[in-house]
Amino acid sequence: AATLSVRNLTISYRRGGRDTVAVAGADFALAPGERLGLVGESGSGKSTLAAAVLRTLPDNARVSSGSISLGGSDILSLDAAELRRIRSTRIARVPQNPLASLNPVFTIGRQLTDIVRAHRKVSKAEAIAIAEEILGKVGLPDVAVKRRSFPHELSGGMRQRVMIAMALINRPQLLIADEPTTALDTTVQAQIVELLRERVTTARMSLLLITHDMGIVSELCTQVMVMYRGRIVEQGPVADVLTNP
Ligand code: ADP
Ligand code: ADP
Repeated sequence: AATLSVRNLTISYRRGGRDTVAVAGADFALAPGERLGLVGESGSGKSTLAAAVLRTLPDNARVSSGSISLGGSDILSLDAAELRRIRSTRIARVPQNPLASLNPVFTIGRQLTDIVRAHRKVSKAEAIAIAEEILGKVGLPDVAVKRRSFPHELSGGMRQRVMIAMALINRPQLLIADEPTTALDTTVQAQIVELLRERVTTARMSLLLITHDMGIVSELCTQVMVMYRGRIVEQGPVADVLTNP
């Protein structure tokens, strides 16, 4: 069974009294453990498609047709409480810019334990143990110190490791990463790609990776999907699509 199934999805934006189609009839499925690279020029609809799956579309967006199913749940019809439960437990997101998503006034440990305790009945001590375990897994040395650190005390690469920890801490089935390495320098980019590859494959998670970097797709993904002006114009195994002239 597919983790994610998107069928005939069409989304438009209303701006200045007229509608623009941003995603036109998108149709694809992602099986457990499959890693899909979503590529295409700027404005081709990649973020809109990902936002629909995350149910974070802006108010002026309208889904005019189609369906999105995640592990059997109909994403487009979930109410607010169901959405809160699904986010971070079944689907999680690694953003492009960690600083925009981290709370500057709470420690890394507090932000991790809050996510755990929002979804699991565990004591504070148990939540801290879970947070320290995941910090170790994302390769942050000196876990106890990092847990007490504030976001601004970490480097960009460390902050992105924290975002991956936050995304993974409740063991979601699907990880959506939106240009997760674009804001990092090239050495750190390679480390984050390797970390994502290692974490996603050992946990057999599904990955939807938005990027403009084909190199990252070939390192990380099993499948690739190319969007052009709202349409999926090519999709298939990485080896086929990337060698296609
Ligand atoms: P990509 O992620 O591939 O760069 P987007 O999904 O951001 O593409 O954009 C797809 C299309 O939708 C573009 O034409 C863009 O201008 C338009 N669009 C994106 N967000 C909005 C919005 N909030 N309001 C109106 N149009 C939007
Ligand atoms: P970016 O870093 O890609 O520029 P932001 O970090 O500003 O994007 O976040 C964009 C939107 O996505 C915000 O409204 C944020 O609340 C939302 N978001 C972040 N993480 C999740 C998640 N796990 N599930 C659903 N929505 C999320």
